[in-house]
Amino acid sequence: RRETSSGSNSVATHCPYCAFQCGMLLGGGPQQLWIEGDRGFPVNKGGLCLKGWTAPQTLAHPERLQTPLKRQPDGRLLPISWDEALDSIVQHIHITQQRYGKEAVGVFGSGALTNEEAYLLGKFARLALNTSQIDYNGRFCMSSAAEAMNRAFGLDRGLPFPLEDLAQAEVILLAGSNIAETMPPLMQYLDRQQRAGGLLITVDPRHSLTARSGRRHLQLTPGSDAVLANGLLHVLIRDGLVDEDYIAQRTSHFDAARAMAAAYWPERVERLTGVPERDLTEVAHLLGHARSAIILTGRGVEQQRQGVTNVLAYINVALALGLVGKPGSGFGSLTGQGNGQGGREHGQKANQLPGYRRIDDPTARATIARVWGIDEGELPGPGRSAYELLTSLGTPEGVRCLFVMGSNLVVSAPNALHIEERLAALDCLIVCDFFLSETARLATIVLPVTQWAEEEGTLTNLEGRVIHRRRAFAPPAGVWDEITLLCELARRLGKGQYFPFRNAREVFEELRRASAGGLADYAGITYEKIDAQQGVFWPCPTPEHPGTPRLFADGFPTADGRARFHVTHYQGPGEEPDRDYPLYLSTGRILAHYQSGSQTRRISQLRALSPEPLIEIHPTTAREHGLSEGDLALLSTRRASMRGRITINEAIREDTLFVPFHWGDVQAVNRLTSSALDPISRMPEFKVCAARIERLASP
Ligand code: SF4
Repeated sequence: RRETSSGSNSVATHCPYCAFQCGMLLGGGPQQLWIEGDRGFPVNKGGLCLKGWTAPQTLAHPERLQTPLKRQPDGRLLPISWDEALDSIVQHIHITQQRYGKEAVGVFGSGALTNEEAYLLGKFARLALNTSQIDYNGRFCMSSAAEAMNRAFGLDRGLPFPLEDLAQAEVILLAGSNIAETMPPLMQYLDRQQRAGGLLITVDPRHSLTARSGRRHLQLTPGSDAVLANGLLHVLIRDGLVDEDYIAQRTSHFDAARAMAAAYWPERVERLTGVPERDLTEVAHLLGHARSAIILTGRGVEQQRQGVTNVLAYINVALALGLVGKPGSGFGSLTGQGNGQGGREHGQKANQLPGYRRIDDPTARATIARVWGIDEGELPGPGRSAYELLTSLGTPEGVRCLFVMGSNLVVSAPNALHIEERLAALDCLIVCDFFLSETARLATIVLPVTQWAEEEGTLTNLEGRVIHRRRAFAPPAGVWDEITLLCELARRLGKGQYFPFRNAREVFEELRRASAGGLADYAGITYEKIDAQQGVFWPCPTPEHPGTPRLFADGFPTADGRARFHVTHYQGPGEEPDRDYPLYLSTGRILAHYQSGSQTRRISQLRALSPEPLIEIHPTTAREHGLSEGDLALLSTRRASMRGRITINEAIREDTLFVPFHWGDVQAVNRLTSSALDPISRMPEFKVCAARIERLASP
């Protein structure tokens, strides 16, 4: 408990939304609440964005679910008791598995869950349900960056250095991220960096709010990131700006990357990216001459059919400059979801076990089987990735009964109309949520669960700092926390002996043991240590260990201890503009809303600020299509159409339209997005597809 600036008692906890995980002080009760940014928390230092300030309104919201719901024969969702709901779920699971086998039951998790919930959900799927069919919405968010960092460095931690390094860097190159809208308090680090004489360079098809605060902007063609990064590498090599000693001592496979980069001479890069040769060379020189530099990527680079290649191409540049592992320098990816980092470490991914271990690694399987007290042979193998799992729903070989926790799939998945059809083909859909989201509306059974300030647990922020979400209020009557819910379901499925947990702390104790010796090692982290240190950076293998804010200072956890260059040839997006669909469509987030908007669209101030998705278009393109500000337009791709209002913006490329993805139903732009997948990470290509626009009516 802490004192707020007004002297009242409060609980120090964290914002429910993005991976910056701002510290906040909450006091009073859910109906009459004080909120204050936590000045003592070293990440946000008191700063909150509009979403954080208004987050407490979700707690006592009138639309809050407070009782389980069950679909009736007439189609209505009506209240039932918890006992009836859990019995009914167990019955559905038994019937499905008897008829179609164990794999016909699937689980879909979330980067919004705490570490304990994510861990328990993975164990629930593999042990209580005995299915391999589990994946989560982080597959749509961080999977390309994670695969690239694992391949290049042997380890994926979004930022392998503390945030404080950002303020120290002489040059920052930020590609595909609009943090001024998505994580505004992070801008304080970039402001400090620039006030100290540092330079911010942005790469984005839009001259976004973040780009406007920087001093150089490369406005590339959507989907051409690998070309741009390869072009930077080309110029650095050509002009003798690479760090030969670092390359020789700390990396491997540079020769292959050098041969590849030879094909990306500046004139060719200009042709493919639209970035003038002069600008490319200037930026390469600014990076090459800087004493310290950081390269950061975000979803703009990663949510593409070549997402892994794109990130590896930027990592090649960072390695060639000798940046990785040095203070004030490095490469990082900005995690998006609240627990996007922890969510991918503890076993809710189709191909992973807790401790960030591969599920097909015999040593990892033996370790986890030992911790869980089962035979290694009882552990299922790898399952389908998120989009593939969703497209299997209701098919003869696919999942027939799906358990969803913390995801609003029909808004956030690509090609969302198709996903909605697949969900409708299920025998049974179970959704755990605190609002009746667009996905919950389709469910057979809905279970009302606790929210952020009503539960205790840990999360891992974008820099790998494990933090403590403290409980400030009791949940409304009729609402269960996810840990109680999973343990009770496991008990009713006859596996209660493996789920004896009474609270998050007890789950965390097992998570620590399961992670010990893994890449994301939490063995030395306790709630008390997190409280004493304002968070602990993993890996932290022993109780005496202080945690590891900076990775790779002395080597890389690869077989030869070196970071690896990769060949990163450009192949182009899954869909290019053509005669029928002549423009690029890109999607993203805006200031007022978060992810599928299920929470933020229910907050009056945020809804007033951004009541509907606007279609952003360049004035020249708007003129060509006879469109004016506020016009109603029909936006179409090969998959679907949506109606939206036009907003004219000089900051976007003439060949590109931008639409935020926070709305559902007929306003869901993800009904239009492409389902092309990265072949390695299975990340869908949210950021690039071909579209056309037509005027519908005057405002
Ligand atoms: Fe902080 Fe992100 Fe919450 Fe905004 S949404 S207050 S940046 S954690």
